[in-house]
Amino acid sequence: MTDISTAPVALLGVPWDTHSSTGPGAALGVAAIRRALADPSGNFFASTGLDVSRPEVIADVGDVDLSDEAGAADAITAAVARQLDAGRRVLSLGGDHAVTFPVLRAFGPRHPGLSIVHIDAHPDLYDDFEGDPMSHASPFARIMEAGLAARLIQIGIRADGPHLREQAGRFGVESFAAEEVDKALAILPAGPVYLSIDLDGLDPAFAPGVKHYEPGGLSTREVLSVIAAIPGPLIGADIVELCPDRDHCDMTAKLAAKLAKEIVARMWTGG
Ligand code: MN
Ligand code: MN
Repeated sequence: MTDISTAPVALLGVPWDTHSSTGPGAALGVAAIRRALADPSGNFFASTGLDVSRPEVIADVGDVDLSDEAGAADAITAAVARQLDAGRRVLSLGGDHAVTFPVLRAFGPRHPGLSIVHIDAHPDLYDDFEGDPMSHASPFARIMEAGLAARLIQIGIRADGPHLREQAGRFGVESFAAEEVDKALAILPAGPVYLSIDLDGLDPAFAPGVKHYEPGGLSTREVLSVIAAIPGPLIGADIVELCPDRDHCDMTAKLAAKLAKEIVARMWTGG
């Protein structure tokens, strides 16, 4: 896709779900979020009043070509790197959470000192999951091992066991349970931040369109409060794990679209 706009934010689709422990489905999330963004029952206004569809705000650079599975991770890294080298901030739509490691391979070297704010029911810190080190249950182990982030702040965690707690200790992860959102809000870091949102971090009542139901999660309003409270600059983000075949009346797709609009507005305000 030729892209000649000077918009500061790139929207990049990453329809990749081959490392999901529960089978395919999340690759279709990309198209579902795009449809929800364009759905005439809503509009493109973020809560700040910004029309995030304006071409001077956002460049939709399409989806990463993932037809070659063997080269898929490298293709994702290269696609993100292209946008960063053009001076843009990048919002990636997944796909499952395995997308975040190849995405961070582009961010890490370009943004030393980067902090990650990660919303999820799960820490995704497995050394490997069922023999797959690229599993959607492992991206933050790979990211921290590779030194791609200085800090990892996890919010919404409510499904971790001894191995995952040991991994969190090993990597110095700052972990906040779902009932500790206020505590997390108080320590959100200044400086460049990457925000990774696994939709199962929300309660299934708000986000049924995911594979892994963990009741007791965040509300939509709590996630919006995290986005609003990040001091910034917010230089990158992803929204992952939407499985349209699990959704009800597109409510999770619409939720993802709402989060995307607020993230783009937060990126646009700079900081
Ligand atoms: Mn999760
Ligand atoms: Mn996850």
